[in-house]
Amino acid sequence: MKSAVITGASRGIGKACAIRLAKDGYAVVINYSRSEAEAQSVLDTIKANGGEGMIYRADVTDPDQAKALIRDADKAYGGIDVLVNNAGMVKDAYLLMLENTALDKCFDLNVKGYFYCAQAAALKMFRKKSGVIINMSSVSGEMALAGQSIYSATKGAINSMTRVLAKELGERGIRVNAIAPGFIETEMIDVLPPDKKEEYLKAIPMHRFGTAEEVANVVSVLASDASSYITGQIITMDGGLSL
Ligand code: NAP
Repeated sequence: MKSAVITGASRGIGKACAIRLAKDGYAVVINYSRSEAEAQSVLDTIKANGGEGMIYRADVTDPDQAKALIRDADKAYGGIDVLVNNAGMVKDAYLLMLENTALDKCFDLNVKGYFYCAQAAALKMFRKKSGVIINMSSVSGEMALAGQSIYSATKGAINSMTRVLAKELGERGIRVNAIAPGFIETEMIDVLPPDKKEEYLKAIPMHRFGTAEEVANVVSVLASDASSYITGQIITMDGGLSL
């Protein structure tokens, strides 16, 4: 059975990816750092539908915990076929309101966490000479949205890292791509004030936010052989926001 590790899968986009990949036949490792009950409920849903998986607590900002996540997933399922680097956070505020702690926290999770997991997973994927890494970026990696200087910088870094890793790992049979969603209905955007939400809805040509399931659909395709010749790409899915 193929396996997939999804970081930050206790809710939101990660949860939808875990459920979708389990439906696609992967044994899924549902990573979380604090929300154990939510992670367990994702696993219960998967098992109720005949899927396979496990939950795994690891703070991916800690290199040792990130390594342990990948090591134990590899042991449990005899390899790792897919890594979805998804656990991320947003720190929205204008420049003069931002503190250095926000800078550190955001880079620790959105950049270093992705790096630690990718490095550990690539080592396991080398063995099989195959594997897929999917980095959850954001439309903010390319698009300038006021108030997102730190978040944009982390996602821009992920886009760059995605391209470089694709170049480094291609000859080892490992594909690396990123998805750049626009606004997706999850707890992350629940915090937006209603007037901001209205403003964004007007700016999106499709006049709606995306769903986590729509992102999971793209993850499913990128993970599969249907995209066997796609690597180093940043797939934007934003209802037209960035046009
Ligand atoms: P979310 O609802 O806030 O969920 C974040 C997930 O990350 C949770 O499962 C959380 O679990 C986990 N997490 C947080 N810190 C962690 C850590 N240190 N180690 C391991 N897991 C950790 O986020 P989301 O909206 O689904 O976003 C997921 C990804 O998509 C992020 O990378 C985000 O930047 C990107 N994205 C989101 C949107 C959007 O509109 N929602 C748009 C573009 C891109 P615990 O509670 O257990 O920590």
